[in-house]
Amino acid sequence: MMYRTPGTSRIKLRQKTKEFREQTQVKDLRCIPIVRILETLPHVFNGWNYEVVDDWKLPKCHAKTIIDEKTVLLRQSVYDGACLKSGRDRMTIAHEIAHVAIHGQNPLALNRDFDQDRPIRAFEDPEWQAKCWSGELMMPKEYVEGWDVLDIVEICGVSREAAEYQKKKWKEERGKRKGTKSRSTI
Ligand SMILES: [Zn+2]
Repeated sequence: MMYRTPGTSRIKLRQKTKEFREQTQVKDLRCIPIVRILETLPHVFNGWNYEVVDDWKLPKCHAKTIIDEKTVLLRQSVYDGACLKSGRDRMTIAHEIAHVAIHGQNPLALNRDFDQDRPIRAFEDPEWQAKCWSGELMMPKEYVEGWDVLDIVEICGVSREAAEYQKKKWKEERGKRKGTKSRSTI
């Protein structure tokens, strides 16, 4: 089943990650301590918690957010990997926290899509929104936009794939601002 959420934009989500960095007191850090933020989840988001489970209990995904139960479930290997600074595992945790931050506060906003005739546009897709929010959180544009991919990977503690995606999106955004023809910048 597809879900549709109220549309938003990369720029709006970037602003929300800035507010979140201030709220969690990591405003000026280049490497966001995402495991520590996960551990403070109940303090940051009322009623929310997380649970680390054996890998076999989450056979189809590395982590998931259950909105109705206000719970983030994580594979043990993802939690351990993130503690050891695995960029991919750190991004997985950031992605789930994104769902809590964007969709967990207003569950009614996350609607099953019954309007099958109208295609869900990327900016209405909760998965795109979480990917965008987590990228902007972990790689603050104002600091790292001009860096090489490998520096971003090393300093921000993210996966290479995430750093490349982020650079690509910022480049598209610059192209759009200059008025050059560019495909979607979401
Ligand atoms: Zn997701």
